[in-house]
Amino acid sequence: MATKPFWETKTLAQMDVTEWESLCDGCGLCCLIRFEDELTGTITPTRVACRLFDANGCRCTSYGDRRRHVPDCIKLTPHNIDSLPWMPMSCAYRRLHENKPLPHWHPLVTGDPDSVHAAGISVRGQTISEASLDDPDDALAFAAPDLLLDRGEG
Ligand code: SF4
Ligand code: SF4
Repeated sequence: MATKPFWETKTLAQMDVTEWESLCDGCGLCCLIRFEDELTGTITPTRVACRLFDANGCRCTSYGDRRRHVPDCIKLTPHNIDSLPWMPMSCAYRRLHENKPLPHWHPLVTGDPDSVHAAGISVRGQTISEASLDDPDDALAFAAPDLLLDRGEG
């Protein structure tokens, strides 16, 4: 009988650190600068990424030490996903939290770390760095309202 993978048998809270970290598909969507409308709560993502984000590698350049450089980088836990409505619907943490399966393109499913890029889910090569802006508010000029919610749900 085939053994079920850990993401189908464990809750997020039951996973060890290695399992937890492997759920990240490397899409980079959560590293984009977002704006929130104070009145409506609407979140608008942009194509501007955090200054630690490597646009071509599509990853954080200082992940282990990131909060020293970017104190407001959110540390995702099994307990705060509910409070992060801007997390993309494609994100494995959000999906498992909502009792959805991992998508067919997820690297854990395909065994290929590039499958998230091949499927057009990631933002690899599509962002500019906030470090290149004179004023952080200039990021709003790169607003991409559909970006977080329309990618690769299935
Ligand atoms: S949105 Fe989710 S899967 Fe994508 S990089 Fe962020 S934590 Fe990883
Ligand atoms: S510090 Fe790293 S993980 Fe956090 S938003 Fe920036 S690039 Fe992403």
